[in-house]
Amino acid sequence: MDLESPAGRVFVRGDRSRPFLERHPWVRATSIERIEGNPADGQVVDLVGKGDRVIARGIYEGRGGIRVRLYSWDTRQRLDASFWRDRIGRAVMLREMLGLTRPSEACRLIFSEADGLSGLIVDRYRDYVVIQVGSVGMAQRLPILSAAIGDLVRPAAMLVRVEPELRRSQGDAYADGVLSGNRPSGPIVIEEHGLKFGVDLLEGQKTGFYLDQRENRSAAARYAEGRRVLDMFCYTGGFALDCAKIGKAGEVLGFDGSDRAVTLAQANAQMNGAANVRFAVGDAFQTLGNLRKEGERFGMVILDPPKFAGGKSSVADALRAYHSLNRLGVELLEPGGVLVTCSCSGYVTREDFFNMLFGVAQQTRREIQILEMRGAAPDHPTLVTCKETNYLKCFICRVW
Ligand code: SAH
Repeated sequence: MDLESPAGRVFVRGDRSRPFLERHPWVRATSIERIEGNPADGQVVDLVGKGDRVIARGIYEGRGGIRVRLYSWDTRQRLDASFWRDRIGRAVMLREMLGLTRPSEACRLIFSEADGLSGLIVDRYRDYVVIQVGSVGMAQRLPILSAAIGDLVRPAAMLVRVEPELRRSQGDAYADGVLSGNRPSGPIVIEEHGLKFGVDLLEGQKTGFYLDQRENRSAAARYAEGRRVLDMFCYTGGFALDCAKIGKAGEVLGFDGSDRAVTLAQANAQMNGAANVRFAVGDAFQTLGNLRKEGERFGMVILDPPKFAGGKSSVADALRAYHSLNRLGVELLEPGGVLVTCSCSGYVTREDFFNMLFGVAQQTRREIQILEMRGAAPDHPTLVTCKETNYLKCFICRVW
């Protein structure tokens, strides 16, 4: 199958061209009037607007929630191996510029739309590379993409993970596996801020570690000294261990719904000699309610829940969930306590999140001072023409 030259033309509905002219990369079914040329999944198509004018070039996916992912607004650009190599090169260069190349550490090398490579996420964990594919187009081009990544990064092993949504829509045509080198025999150990973390590359969540929170973990730790800290949604203990070891917290309690994550968090605590940390399995809402009933109080509460809004239609429900979660968190804080509250839902804007906290302040009658409004670490850049890449909010607040 030809994966380089345009195999069809996708015509945008009359009034729907604007976002694509403005270089937003996602074309959904609702924006499409008709398709000419019968392109197959993964083939290159031209997106055509008013007056037959070609707007951009992208890759077609007939069953995807995003029907066309756009990659170039230079309408003569061939989406060939050298094009992909160039994009990957630019992405890798950014991480070098950021100084995220220390061999014992981890970073995100490629962040999908934010790096002009919609559907492709690549993380480096020490000398392992994990490629996460989220579109048919990227899955079909894996040989080209992984060859380019291999040449630039020279990893000991490359693993691939298929996003669950893609796997479902493609009837398990694509599977997780090892592209080159050896499969790790257990969690591999990376360093972050001098702490050690075991990362489960094949079974862990996402690609294994929440690298986007790297700088926010340090930021939170700066407020932790002497405090009793509650880390809800602790996963493998990122925030908890930063607060315990670097922030010199008095005591840290971490909870997560996943027992796999908690087991790894406990191992991580041991590996770092953190004696003042305890991890347990627990549902966040239930645990917060129980702690409150038991009259527990904390000097710091960290809330880093999973994505609550998967699309525009679930934003209202998500905001209600953020509200009750943050309300429970605030109620556990002693006066002058610190709330570190996060949202990784791209559809919930910073303003929505701010307004949610306004609601919490009203209902709890507590005073909430925002000290820092943070985002993702810079190896997760925000592309201004794709607002959804500005997905992570991490607000650090003082609460009276
Ligand atoms: N703070 C972590 C990342 C958290 S990701 C870090 O820095 O590494 C979100 C976590 O929420 C996941 O580990 C997931 O297992 C957990 N989770 C999801 N739903 C939950 C629930 N209802 N109660 C508790 N934990 C939950």
